[in-house]
Amino acid sequence: MKLLRMIANLGYGSRKEVKAMFRAGRITDVDGEVLYADDVVEHNRVRVDGEALDPPQGMVIALHKPVGVTCSHNDAGPLVYDLLPPRFLQRRPVLSSVGRLDRDTSGLLLLTDDGALLHRIISPKHHVPKTYVATVTDPLRGDEAERFAAGDLVLKGETTALAPAVCEALGARQARVVLTEGRYHQVRRMFAACGHHVESLHRERIGGLGLQDLAPGDWRVLQRTEIDTIF
Ligand code: URA
Repeated sequence: MKLLRMIANLGYGSRKEVKAMFRAGRITDVDGEVLYADDVVEHNRVRVDGEALDPPQGMVIALHKPVGVTCSHNDAGPLVYDLLPPRFLQRRPVLSSVGRLDRDTSGLLLLTDDGALLHRIISPKHHVPKTYVATVTDPLRGDEAERFAAGDLVLKGETTALAPAVCEALGARQARVVLTEGRYHQVRRMFAACGHHVESLHRERIGGLGLQDLAPGDWRVLQRTEIDTIF
């Protein structure tokens, strides 16, 4: 791919703006030699103002979503996308969240520009487990694990039963839940089906990937080896 297209696709500017960056000599190779719009150069050898380029297509970001931000592209906000560098929002293909977390749910959210990877993570066929910690208003009754595991729980307004899920009590009002599906507000609705109101909900893991030391609102680009731990 020619550099003009590569750099514009990474969100550094419109084609016109990126052409101006070339004319100003801001785009060089790793040895400082000025590059031109029509050149074809490996991504990792290109520098903009002396800095390495943002990751190429196939980027996966892990973000610690705080409570109070939404995953939509076109909500009133604040949005998870507002937590990322503005340049990331100009990338093509676009960056999307891998499934969604409710506005009131915190925890691990992945974002990617790789449609096939996104599908592989969210499709129930691939059984990637998502792990949540839910705190409910009233004490657990003790039958939640059995009801979630039965595989016959039907959510209000739905006709097909949920796949079996794991529910492990962590305290009087707190449980860890592991799901392989991602239906709308699923965890909250599963507890509602058992007579509970979820007071707070946090996603700890997607597959084998956890938040590690990411603080709420922080994000980082995942390495290939970390992406592999999802599956
Ligand atoms: N289940 C929910 O109820 N909400 C989420 O955000 C994720 C799973």
